[in-house]
Amino acid sequence: MSVLTDLIYAGANAVAGLTDNAVNEAIAAHGAQTKIAFPDTAYFFPTIYAATGVKVQTLGDLPACVGVLKSLITNQEDLGQALNAGLATAVGAEILEGLKWLNPSPYENESGIGFVPDSAIRSLGVPLVTGDIPGVAVVLGSAENPEDVVSAVKEYQSRGILSFLVGDVIEQCAAGGVKMGLDFRVVPLGHDVTAVIHVVTVAIRAALIFGAVPPGDLGALLNYTKERIPAFVNTFGALNEVVVAAGAGAIALGFPVIVDVDLGENQVPGALVSVTDHSETVAKSLELRNIKVKIKNIPIPVAFASAFEGEIIRKADMHAEFWNSKFPTCELLVMREPGEIEDHKLTVIGPDIGPEIPCNLPLATFVEVAGAKMQTDFEPVIERKIHHWFNYMEGVMHTGQRNMFRIRVSKEAYNKGLRLKDFAEVLYCEIMDEFSSVVDKCQVTMITDRAEVEKLLTEVAMPRYAARDERLNAMTDESVDTFYTCILCQSFAPSHCCVVTPERLGLCGAVSWLDAKATKELTPAGPSQPIPKTGLVDERLGRYTEVDKIVSEATHGAVNTVTLYSILEDPMTSCGCFECICGIMPEANGVVIVNREFVGMTPTGMTFGELASMTGGGVQTPGFMGHGRRFIGSKKFIAAEGGLGRIVWMPKELKDDVAERLNKTAKELYGIDNFTDMICDETIASESEEVLAFLTEKNHPALAMDPIM
Ligand code: SF4
Ligand code: ZN
Repeated sequence: MSVLTDLIYAGANAVAGLTDNAVNEAIAAHGAQTKIAFPDTAYFFPTIYAATGVKVQTLGDLPACVGVLKSLITNQEDLGQALNAGLATAVGAEILEGLKWLNPSPYENESGIGFVPDSAIRSLGVPLVTGDIPGVAVVLGSAENPEDVVSAVKEYQSRGILSFLVGDVIEQCAAGGVKMGLDFRVVPLGHDVTAVIHVVTVAIRAALIFGAVPPGDLGALLNYTKERIPAFVNTFGALNEVVVAAGAGAIALGFPVIVDVDLGENQVPGALVSVTDHSETVAKSLELRNIKVKIKNIPIPVAFASAFEGEIIRKADMHAEFWNSKFPTCELLVMREPGEIEDHKLTVIGPDIGPEIPCNLPLATFVEVAGAKMQTDFEPVIERKIHHWFNYMEGVMHTGQRNMFRIRVSKEAYNKGLRLKDFAEVLYCEIMDEFSSVVDKCQVTMITDRAEVEKLLTEVAMPRYAARDERLNAMTDESVDTFYTCILCQSFAPSHCCVVTPERLGLCGAVSWLDAKATKELTPAGPSQPIPKTGLVDERLGRYTEVDKIVSEATHGAVNTVTLYSILEDPMTSCGCFECICGIMPEANGVVIVNREFVGMTPTGMTFGELASMTGGGVQTPGFMGHGRRFIGSKKFIAAEGGLGRIVWMPKELKDDVAERLNKTAKELYGIDNFTDMICDETIASESEEVLAFLTEKNHPALAMDPIM
C-alpha cells in the first residue's frame, strides 16, 4: 500500500467505527423512532440524500446508511477506491455531526456556527454567479505559525473569496484580527474535523438547489461539484489520518487539497499538492482551481473589497457621520456632454472630515459622466452602485440611497487617513472599470458646504429623481418593444433563464429591465440578450412565440415554452436564488408568498426552505414560482390566475415592505382600499383553518374568484 491510500483507509475506517458506535449508542439511548434533522434545511442529511436518495428522518434510518458507508471502504490499493473511502468519511462526518442535533442547539457554546441554513446558500447564488465571490476556500487545521493562516485568510477576504474555517484556525484568525461572519465572507464552522461536512453540504445542496441534480445520482452530483463549485481546501499543520480521509472526500468532489507539509511523492498532481512556502499558498490554491481574481488597486489608505460590504460600524467606533436625518444629503449621477466635464477631476467643496468626534456633516456625492454610448436610462443603474462601492471600503458603512442615506466612517479608517477625496477616487476608479463601455469621462464632486448641498438637492437632484420615478412607473410591458433574457445563473442552474420585462424583474430582485438593457450595452455578448416582443399567442398568459424561441435557445432546449404571467401554465423557471417563493394554497383559493428571510411556518404546512425546494434548478413546477419582491405589486403578478388579489398570506415584514404599491395596484384592479389589511400574516395566523377564518371575516377577494385549480 502507498502511504497515502494507507492513511486514507486508516482514517475512513476510524470514522466508520466511530459512526457505527455513535449510531448504536444514540438508538440505545433515545430509541429508533426519535426524529433527527439538521436545522433549516429541506434536504435531510444532505450528503446522504444527494448521494443515495435516502431521506434520513429518524435515528432508525441511520444503520442502513452506516452500511452503505462501510461498503464504500474497500481497502483496495487504488486511488479511485480510496477516494470512495473519502466519500464514506464525509457520510460518517455528516452522521456524527447530525447526531449532535439530538441536543437542540449543539453549537451554542462553540465559536463556529455549525450547519449553514438553506437560505444562506440561496443568498450566495447571485454573488457566486457574478463572480463577486470568485471562489470558496476551506481552511482547516492548526497553523504552526498563526500568522500564516491569518495572512492567507485576510488575502482571501480581500479578494472576495468566501472562507470556511475548521479547527484551531478559528481562534488563530480571531486573535489575528480577522473580521468574521458570513457578511465578512469568513465563516467559522467548528472545531471537530467532522465540522468540515458543513461546507461540503453547502456544495452538495447547491447541486440540489441550483443544479436540479436528482437525489441518488452520485455521478451527476460529483460532476456538478467538480465543474461548478469553485472550492478548494487548505490544511494547516500536521496531518492525521482523519484529515487525510476527509481530504480524499474533498478530492472526490473535485476540490483540490493544498497542504502545508511536504508529502513528497505522495502528492497527486492537480488534486493533492504540498505548498510549504506560505507566501505561495493563496496563489497556488487559486491557480489549481483556476480561479481568476481581478485585483483592484485603488489608491486609498484603507482596504477595498466586497468582503467588507456587510461591515457594521457602531457608534462607539465611529469618527464621522453623514446622515439625512441630521443634515441634507444626496447622491446623484448624471449624464453630461463630453465638453462639459473634465476626466478624473475630483473636487471637495466645503470642510473635509476633521479631527473632532463625531464629525457630522451634510454631504452631496455628485458624479458626472459622459460617453458616446451613455444613456440617461443608465444613470440610476450606475448610481445604485455607489452604495456597494462605498461599503467596500474597510471602515465605511453606507445605507440608503438618493437623498436619504447614512454614511459612517470608523475611527480606524480616519486614523489611517481616509478622507472625502478617497471616496471620490473610489467612484472614479470603479465607474471607469465597470462601466468603461459606456463611460469615457467621469468627474466627481463631494460637497459638504450646507448651502451648496441644499442647492444641488433642490435644484438638480430632486427633479431628476422625480423624472426617473415617473419614467419607471410609466414603464409597462406594453410600453416597450423588447424584453431581455438573463442567464447569469446558468453557471449554477444550467437550464435556467429569466425573462426580464419592465413589470417583472429577475427573480433574484437584482436585475430590472433597465439593468438588463444596460448589461446588453455594457457586454454585448453577455448574459442579457434582447427578445423582440413579437408573436403574441396568448395575452392572458403572456405567451409569445419569440420568448419561447429565445428561451429555448438560451436553455439549450431544456425549456421550450414559458408564460410571463401564470404560475400554473408553463410558469417561468427558477434557479434557486429567488427573493420570494409563491405557492398555491388550494383551500384558500389563493397563494402564499414567503421571503427568504422568514424562518417560520406558513399555512401551506411548509417553511420557506421546503417551499423553495419544490422548484429551482431551471425546472418548471406549476404551482410554485420564485420571484423578486418588487414583482408583488405589479399588475402582471400571476395575472393569468386573477392577479395579486389571490395573495392570502405573507410574512408581516414582506407585507409592510410592499404595502404601498400593492395597495395602490389592488385599488386600481379591484377597487379595494387597503388590500394588505385583508392579507393574513404570521402575527394573525399561520394555521390553515385560522387563516381561512380570517380571510372569510375580511371578505378576501380570492374567496370569490374562480377555483384556482
Ligand atoms: Fe439569476 Fe435571473 Fe437574477 Fe439573472 S435575473 S442573476 S438569471 S436570478
Ligand atoms: Zn439565480
